[in-house]
Amino acid sequence: MIGMLNQKHMLEETAMKDHMPSVEPSFRQSVDLMFQRAACLLDISPGLKEKIRVCNSTYTVRFGVRLRGEMHTFTGYRSVHSEHHEPVKGGIRFASDVNQDEVEALAALMSLKCALVEVPFGGSKGGLAINPHDWDEDELERITRRFAYELIKRDLINPAQNVPAPDMGTGEREMAWIADQYKRMHTSDINASACVTGKPLNQGGIAGRIEATGRGVQYALREFFRHPEDIARAGLTGSLDGKRIVVQGLGNVGYHAARFLEEEDGCRVIGIIERDGGLFDERGLSVEAVKSHMMQTGSIQGFAGATFIGKGAALLEEPCDILIPAALEGVITMENAPRIHAPLIIEAGNGPITAGADQFLRERGTVIIPDLYANAGGVTVSYFEWVKNLSHIRFGRMERRREEARHQLLLQGIEELTGQAFPERLKADYLRGASELDMVRSGLDDTMRTGYQQMRAYWHDRDGVEDLRIAGYLIAIERIAANYASAGL
Ligand code: GLU
Repeated sequence: MIGMLNQKHMLEETAMKDHMPSVEPSFRQSVDLMFQRAACLLDISPGLKEKIRVCNSTYTVRFGVRLRGEMHTFTGYRSVHSEHHEPVKGGIRFASDVNQDEVEALAALMSLKCALVEVPFGGSKGGLAINPHDWDEDELERITRRFAYELIKRDLINPAQNVPAPDMGTGEREMAWIADQYKRMHTSDINASACVTGKPLNQGGIAGRIEATGRGVQYALREFFRHPEDIARAGLTGSLDGKRIVVQGLGNVGYHAARFLEEEDGCRVIGIIERDGGLFDERGLSVEAVKSHMMQTGSIQGFAGATFIGKGAALLEEPCDILIPAALEGVITMENAPRIHAPLIIEAGNGPITAGADQFLRERGTVIIPDLYANAGGVTVSYFEWVKNLSHIRFGRMERRREEARHQLLLQGIEELTGQAFPERLKADYLRGASELDMVRSGLDDTMRTGYQQMRAYWHDRDGVEDLRIAGYLIAIERIAANYASAGL
């Protein structure tokens, strides 16, 4: 009987493998199709694969808040994809079109992401169907606290069980409100700060969390460009220096990724796509200048010295070396994929390429650095923040000066032995002990390097692994399966 079931499942999987979607799959279907494509290559039981694929639970809450003299009803979700590790982890998104399918797909990506970069969390995600721009700050605080209250009382926010973080439409401010709400409801929980990450520094946050996802994208690209074989697969040559970049979305992730690549790696950001259009300048845009124009005017329109394009998405099709979709899911579809020329795409946002577009681009030879790896910098630094909150001490606080003193001794020894002064230009850097930010960057860099190296080893060495995405899914599913197996489930 089991043999027959296995055979049936294998046949279904083979059909799935050869199946190019004929209509554009939704975000959730895309994640499922990608999962199935990887699962075909794995020698684990169909039942276990299915257990890993499905989302464990989704809680929907409708709550009312009295605002502007009348009662307003809001709908929110918290989805738990997999509890093979607890707490489960994932952001809370505020956007008008948030829905259950989207939140579940994002929660699944969180499980895979955490497994791939060895962050010991299960996957979760939350969303509130709201346009944050419709409400002023006080109103938003009341709405956020009420949503948090609903989740906290069901342990869907809890340092040991479920730890949210920022996502689209939320940031440090909302995380501080959530942490405070939790503390009011758990006055004697000594680990209360660890109930949410992405908090401001003065509320138990960690240095480097805001820019962590963008920094992770930068580290991912640096690692990619350390491998000549991979660079050649994308049809590129050389280093990051001088590479022409188009970025979609100048929110927290896109802004930091593009700025770091421009300012620190010599890339030329020739195109920036935003909600209200796109900017193009072949000589390269200043990301900082565009962002400050956006902050001042609320739009990228009117930015001097660049060509404005009303239909911004057209810039996705502009020939460039690296395309960075850092905004919504489903922006590269079966419809526009044939017109996308970038040989290398790094998914800084979650799910920007549909499964149909993914298949088309893969067959054409485009190299895609997939979301579950590329944007894992955020949750990686969230992990560091959670550990910091549980240990109640800043990273490096005990050892920093001790480290400096030992370095000082070593330099003195070298100078005495050689009779020469240690070069001044190296001295200060060598003597300086690591700050929390240094340690966060080091941990993040190590995570991104290791993650890429593991994916590329599968990509190059394992039969049937055609691309980095499937390599990433495979590693993640294998790890989750091994976790279930050793837990005796
Ligand atoms: N929302 C981010 C993501 O999609 C961060 C999640 C977290 O830090 O828990 O990865």
